Formats: sequence, C-alpha cells, structure tokens
Amino acid sequence: MSQTETALAEMHHFVLAGVRNAGKSSLMNNLFQKEVAIASGTPGTTTDPVTRKIELGKLGLCSLTDTAGLDDRGNLGEQRIKKSRERMQNADLILFVSPADRPLCEEEKELKTWLEEQKRPWLGVLTFSDRPVSEEKEGFFPPDRQIRVDNSNPDSTLALISRMEQFSQSLTREMTPVEGLVQEQDLVILVTPIDLAAPAGRLIMPQVETIRDLLDRDCATLIVKERELYHFYHKLGIRPALVITDSQAFHKVAADIPEDQPLTSFSLLFARKKGDPAWFIRSLKALQNFPEDGRVLVMEACSHHRQAEDLGTVKIPRLFRQMVSSRVEFAHSRSLPENPDEWDLIIHCGGCMTTQKAMDSRLELFRSRDIPVLNYGLFLAWANGLLPRALEPSPDLIELYHRE
Ligand code: SF4
Repeated sequence: MSQTETALAEMHHFVLAGVRNAGKSSLMNNLFQKEVAIASGTPGTTTDPVTRKIELGKLGLCSLTDTAGLDDRGNLGEQRIKKSRERMQNADLILFVSPADRPLCEEEKELKTWLEEQKRPWLGVLTFSDRPVSEEKEGFFPPDRQIRVDNSNPDSTLALISRMEQFSQSLTREMTPVEGLVQEQDLVILVTPIDLAAPAGRLIMPQVETIRDLLDRDCATLIVKERELYHFYHKLGIRPALVITDSQAFHKVAADIPEDQPLTSFSLLFARKKGDPAWFIRSLKALQNFPEDGRVLVMEACSHHRQAEDLGTVKIPRLFRQMVSSRVEFAHSRSLPENPDEWDLIIHCGGCMTTQKAMDSRLELFRSRDIPVLNYGLFLAWANGLLPRALEPSPDLIELYHRE
C-alpha cells in the first residue's frame, strides 16, 4: 500500500449480499458508474467476494464488496457462502439486496435471521423497483430498513448513497493512536528499531499512523532508533510529554530514560484502538498459575513477511517459556481456530492492518468462552516488568488495571 492511500482499516466497509441474480452486480456497477462486476441474467455469475475501493460522496473512500449468491449450490457453494458471511461479519453496513418483484425465498429468510442473531447492521435494498413489488417483500423489510432502487436507472442509486451517508453518521469512530494522551505543542519521542525484522525502506503502519496523528494534533515528533535514544533524550533540554517505543525495545528504552518519564508502546496504543483493553487486562491474571503444560495460540491478523527472529513465532514463545513454563505448547494462526476451547491463552498481534470491528468479532469468539486474550504489547510489557508503568500514560488503561 502506498503511504498516500487511506488504510483499509480507516474506511467504511459495505457488503452487498443476497440470493443469485438479485441485481447485486448491477447495483455495484451503478454505484461505481462503470462495469466493475459482471452483471448478467445467468444466476451465480459472482463466485467469490469481489472488493473494490470507491469514493462515495461524504463517505470518502470506502470499500464495497460484492458476494456470491446465498443460494449458491454444492460443496463449492457452501464455501462461497462461508466467505460471504466472513465479509458480512466485518462490514459496517450490509446491503441486503432483494429483487422487489420476486417472492421471498428460504435463503433470504435465513439471511435475515442470521443478520439479526449476529446483530449486524443491514439495509434492505429492493432492486427492480420499477416492477410491481411482491407483498411478501413489503412486510419482510421494515419501512425504516428498506430502500427501493431501479437497476435500469443509475440515478436511482443516488438515494441509496444518501442513505449510506446517513447510516455512516451513526457508526462508532475508531479511536486514533494518541487520542487523549497528548496536547498540542507536546514533544513526543518515537523509538523505532531498524533491525532485520523492519521492512526495507519504510516504517510500519502503527508508526506511520502515530506520526500522522501527532502531526494532526500539532505535536512535535522526534523519531530515533533505540541505540540513539539515550544520547538525544539527554541532550534535548525539554522533557517529552511521552515516549512511545516498539514493544521489543521496551527493556532498553526503560533503562535509558528516567523512571518518571511517561512511556508506552505502539502495541499498547493499538490495544486501545483495535482491541478490547478491559478483556486484555483482565486476561493478565491467566499468567499467574498458568498450567505447566498449557497451550497458547499466537494469532496474527495479516500475512506479514517473517524474519529469523520473528516476534510471534520465535521471541514471544521463547520469552513465555522462560517466564512462565518451559513445557507450554505453542501454535500460530492467522485465522480463527476450529476448536477455541483447546487453548488456555491467546496472544494476539496489534491488528494494525484490520478494522476494530473485525478484531472485535475475533475477540468475541474467545471472550464468550472466557478464554483469556493478551495482545503482543501487553504481554511484552508484563514480561519486561513494565506494568503498570507502560499503562500509566493512558488514564483509561491504568484505571482498568487498578480495577482488576
Ligand atoms: S501481524 Fe498484526 S500487527 Fe503485524 S502487521 Fe499484521 S496486522 Fe499489523
């Protein structure tokens, strides 16, 4: 991704769902005002989810995903439906597309039940509304949850965009990295190790987002590697409001600055932004009395390139075995486990490349089963003896810590 693009995690995500031949692809093409999805009268033309970015009026840059028909048949059909539902789990709004003139079918009833059970936000989009509307459909989509669209008239999609804009105003905004932690004119030091694990020629997303957030808040930023921190910190002449470090350099950074210097990590900022800090902090208790031969699943939210001393697969397991028990079994996964109850603890990455909603639906799988979850930053702060210090800059995190 180029540095000028909006991060996928910062966009609104819309998903089109419905049975085959409901007019989803035509609707997608009308929204884009060009052909991006194959629209044909042959059922099942869209097989896998197709995601495109689109600038939609006041919504700005959004992602729009067209999915396979929910009445897709056979073994492959089931897999496609599974993929469609995964996309719906992470959507800000699901456009439930249904042809106005066709009677209701079982799959549409199932979709509505699923959306309500999962508490997913949705809007019924009745396509082909130039034709007589089936009575069943009238009653099925409540008036405040339906909009009619004439697929043969691209202008009729403008009303839909306006409904999507209204809806977006009710969305919960994702917190920015340093929200509530700094004031304008503050100086903040960022410590970013440039080691073998650092990508060539660029900074990683949490660092970029934090720098941008600090600039937006009229703060000054000094960016140093951990080796130069001591030199610059002690020459500065002014006290930084905050030092934010990569979690892997916690130990050295803490040793090089005064004990009363507010210090935190990028991962802890992302625990607030993407995760469930209350659940993470409560989960720290799992580290006391952890079963000697317990099982830990390390989860990551993207397929980043692994280096020799990879954090998730090498450093965290090594540290955990040193600090907790040498017999602990580790596994690593990017997707949700089939049997969550097999795990005594989950240690999750910061989730910088995913949305807060997607992270929350991952966490819910474990929270609902009372399985503890830590994020990388919290585990590393604990392992380096930096709790509660690393939580202190954030009033909400430190309050949670003392409450637990
Ligand atoms: S593994 Fe997690 S923290 Fe690392 S880049 Fe991917 S989403 Fe971000």
